[in-house]
This record gives sequence, C-alpha cells and structure tokens, in this order.
Amino acid sequence: MEKILVTRTSMPSYEEYTEAIRPLWSSHWLTNMGIYHTELETKLKKYLKAQGLSLMVNGHMALELTIQAMDFPRGSEVITTPFTFISTTHAIVRNGLTPVFCDVKPEDGTMDESKIEPLVTDHTVAIVPVHVYGNICNVEAIQKIADKYGLKVIYDAAHAFGVERQGHGIAEYGDASVFSFHATKVFNTIEGGAAAFRDGDLYDKLYNLKNFGIKGEELVVGVGANAKMNEFCAIMGLCNLKYIDDAIMARRKRAEFYDSLLSQIDGIGFFKFPADIRRNYSYYPVLIRNGKRDELYERLKEEDIYSRKYFYPLTSDQACFRNKYKQLELPAARKLAQSVLVLPMYEELPLEQIERIYEVCRECLGTC
Ligand SMILES: *Cc1c(COP(=O)(O)O)cnc(C)c1O
Repeated sequence: MEKILVTRTSMPSYEEYTEAIRPLWSSHWLTNMGIYHTELETKLKKYLKAQGLSLMVNGHMALELTIQAMDFPRGSEVITTPFTFISTTHAIVRNGLTPVFCDVKPEDGTMDESKIEPLVTDHTVAIVPVHVYGNICNVEAIQKIADKYGLKVIYDAAHAFGVERQGHGIAEYGDASVFSFHATKVFNTIEGGAAAFRDGDLYDKLYNLKNFGIKGEELVVGVGANAKMNEFCAIMGLCNLKYIDDAIMARRKRAEFYDSLLSQIDGIGFFKFPADIRRNYSYYPVLIRNGKRDELYERLKEEDIYSRKYFYPLTSDQACFRNKYKQLELPAARKLAQSVLVLPMYEELPLEQIERIYEVCRECLGTC
C-alpha cells in the first residue's frame, strides 16, 4: 500500500537544478541579493502583477516585517482571522500588536466582512485577512471599511500564489499581500516568501528590515533583522516558476476528479469558490458533516493516507493565545475547524490514489 502524504513538493529535475546552480561555483556569491535574487524578484513581480515586491527568507518573516514596516504604535489592534496557520497571528503579536479575531464565512472560510466593522475601535490600525486555501476574500468590502476608518490592509496570501480575479492578480489588492514559498506550497523556493505592495517606499523599508538596516559599508540606519533569500533558493524558484502554470493545471485535473467522486457522498460538503477567479488548487479542503471528521481522519490514516485537520484548532484557541485576548464568539470559524479536512493534493498525485481515498470516505461516511 502506497503511503500518501497531504502534499508533495514540486521540484525541477535534478539535472536542471544542478545545471542552474553551477555558476555559483565560479561566482562564490551565495546570498546578499545576488543576481538570481534580482532575477526572481523581477519575474515574480511580473507573474503576480505586483507593483512592488521584496523577496524574503520565508513567508512568516515577509508578513512580520511587512507589518513592522507600517510603523503602527505598539499595543494597537489588528482585526484578523483565527481560521489560519499560526504564523498569521504570531506575526501580529510579535510586532507588539493585539489581534482581534473576526469570524469567517461558513461557505468559504474567509473573513466575514459583515463582522468587521463592529470590531473597529479607536485603537484599530489594520486588517489582516487570509485568502484561505487560495479563496479570495471580499476585497472590495474590506477596502471600503479600511478606507472609512483609515486602516491598512495586509493580506496573508500564503495560499494564493497565482490566483487571479477578472485578470487582476491577487497581489493587486490591499496595501500589501504576503506570499509563502515554503516547500509545501504551490510554488516553492525550498523556503522563501515575498511581500508585494503598492507603496513604493515599502521596498526600501523592507530592504532595511531584511538586511540589518545596513545602508552602506559603515552606515546602519535601522534596527533590521536578517530575512534575506539566498541564491540556492532563488534558483529553485526560477526553475519552478517555469512550470507553475502546468503544475496548477495538473492540480486542477485532480481537484475536478475528487469533486466528481466525492460529490456522490452526502456527508461531504465543499467550500465555495467564485466562478470568476483563476484558482491555484493549492489545497483540497472538504467539510465532513455529522461530526465524523476525526473518524474519517483516523480511518484514512489506517490506510496510510495522511490528511490534515487544517485549520484546527483556531489560532485564538491555541495554548499561547487562549484567554489572552478578548474572547469573541466565533461560531462559523469554530464549526469549520471542527469539520474541515484537507485531503492529499499535489500535481503528481495518481488518479488511482484519489479513487482509493474516495473508497475510504465512502465506506466511512456512506453514500446517502
Ligand atoms: C505557510 C503559511 C505561512 C508561513 O509561511 P512560511 O513560508 O512557512 O514561513 C503563513 N500563513 C499561512 C496562511 C500559511 O499557510
């Protein structure tokens, strides 16, 4: 029986990558904004249709430093979602800011725009929503609220690489959007990430923050961290970027095959994706009804199929945050966290294995 993990990293051929890194053995230039860093930054900016873009060592630092670059007063409040990876909440709290958790919409898991306004106070400075599973937030409604109260909008777009709506790149919305290029994401640079932004000044601010605030050989102008992407990672990105559209098509085929089989099972619900978006099929999340999520998770595991309860628990319920912040009622997020299951999805996932997963689901949940 073949072991199936929830995802499998996309890689170029061994020959392609090793050929691509060969020049590093003559230049000996392995990091500090080398030529491949510059090339990847330029290519990604174009691919993502971003006005400005800064590469980072990973998605988390991209988010943490982008929030830091906005210079919010410590203790300010940031409205965000608890239905996300812990990184989103950590990035806010590690900046000395207070997360205010907003509920999500049951049909797609993104922030419920109708619940944002009542959470705005005199201390609110920003909204940090997540395009969860590559589904797009209600960007217009969120921008309207932000404009009304003078708030910044920083999207955690870690799941949304390559997602477009009506020809617009996901990076075109809000003040900034942050991407992750971790090995488990649709597009990877082994580890890596980027911040895309509108305000041109952010490029220099982020450059300072990712490179110790060093301005010249003898001049340090800011208290920066070290969050630079190295050349090996940039080259992995350049190789993977060539195949990204094919990879997304291959994922689409698998998602559609899953849909056709799993829609026959009554106990399974699906997230709603609007028809006018170009999806990236980064994850294959389903909702398991009748309280059977954990049972199905265990049954799959017995068959050596590793799904993920992604995202459970809510970040607001994690040991490090529980009881620390205002406890708001989050009925929709809580319900999703109890029923969501992310099934295996990657471009080379064999269709027979999807049939196998379907069989386990059918046997566990029944068909009617
Ligand atoms: C992966 C991920 C991150 C963090 O990205 P890293 O590159 O792993 O640091 C942040 N937010 C979300 C929603 C993610 O899925």
